[in-house]
Amino acid sequence: MRIFNWERRWKMPGRWGILGASFLARGACGSRTRENPKETPGAPEESPEPCLASKCQDETVGKKDTLRGRWLATRRTTHELWLIGKALVSTRHVVQAHIIPIRRCNLDCAYCNEYDEVSAPVPLEEMHRRIDKLAELGTSLITISGGEPLLHPELDDIIRRIKHHGRVAGLITNGYLLVPERIERLNRAGLDHLQISVDNLKPDDVSKKSLKVLDQKLVHLAEFADFHENINSVLGSGVNNPEDALVIAERARSLGFTSTVGIIHDGSGQLRALGPVERNVFERIMDMSKGSYSRFNHFQRNLAEGKPNDWRCRAGSRYLYICEDGLVHYCSQQRGWPGVPLARYTPADVRREFRTRKPCATHCTVSCVQQTSYIDHWRAPQHLDPLPSPRHALDREAAESLVQIETESGD
Ligand code: SF4
Ligand code: SF4
Repeated sequence: MRIFNWERRWKMPGRWGILGASFLARGACGSRTRENPKETPGAPEESPEPCLASKCQDETVGKKDTLRGRWLATRRTTHELWLIGKALVSTRHVVQAHIIPIRRCNLDCAYCNEYDEVSAPVPLEEMHRRIDKLAELGTSLITISGGEPLLHPELDDIIRRIKHHGRVAGLITNGYLLVPERIERLNRAGLDHLQISVDNLKPDDVSKKSLKVLDQKLVHLAEFADFHENINSVLGSGVNNPEDALVIAERARSLGFTSTVGIIHDGSGQLRALGPVERNVFERIMDMSKGSYSRFNHFQRNLAEGKPNDWRCRAGSRYLYICEDGLVHYCSQQRGWPGVPLARYTPADVRREFRTRKPCATHCTVSCVQQTSYIDHWRAPQHLDPLPSPRHALDREAAESLVQIETESGD
């Protein structure tokens, strides 16, 4: 399952908001399933009334408008501008990594292929080793994803380790376990960015990540969080009411958050053009952010129209996906390539993958990798082919599936 997220910068979120919120935008909140969300301690009751944006516009919003809130945002922006400058100067280091501390999730969204019901948390010492290694590879932004990362009992210590290395720390969560005390703990750990996907206004058989359920969580975030928040809404296959995305985006705006919209594709992971109603919603959301960075990015419009994109995917180099087993993958949708342990990943691997073309690029919808790779769009053509994956070396069917992507893309 693939999601393309299109970022709207409602408010100044810090410069990484241009890249950062999009970096966060990919992640666990993306792909397939069964029926009801599992019983989870701390899971929220539905909000008494679904909050429609028009009703909430005048609500008082907390920390972001204080002197301290503005100072924190300025400090975050300055740090992130420096990291972007560093990424532009040298291509020899990783820019962003997604890291999975736990594969388990407390929900079971019908479109998700990135969770299970049983996995144990990765031990803290092992997470420390992986973060240390990412820092050694020069990684600027480390985003914690899942599964549901808030289920990891030592998440705060994982964030602290990222901040210990002076890197930007991001978190993708379904938000169900957020309460004021948990938000304050994330503040103290030093979290920089958080993203929640809100898929619809009311729970249905596809997703329980609903504004009706999560609105109170968003209000708590607005009141208590020191970090930047991005709210992702979705369009496409399995979304019953496309207009929900508009209401969710407006609600995010009213609370002072940034907002992105993702395109969900069908269960086979294929790119499919949006229908007329969805296109209309997509265009209306685009119109809301005239003058933003996104207007210069044609990726999302091509994807909405089902057209291919011409770009150089720098996965395995500027972007890494580290699974719960500590293996490096191109991204969440190409797990198995290169599929080698992070502990053995070297600067030479980073340089090789920088010049390795990815046959699946043409119809790729993994926005965080696209945004990361855009930094180097103008340089270094790719002429190498992907190395055989150790995991798939003996798996003929899987190996052929990568070839099939290559054929389809015509790349
Ligand atoms: S909440 Fe859990 S099941 Fe739903 S998209 Fe995120 S990781 Fe997948
Ligand atoms: S083009 Fe890159 S980011 Fe997209 S699916 Fe392929 S490896 Fe992943």
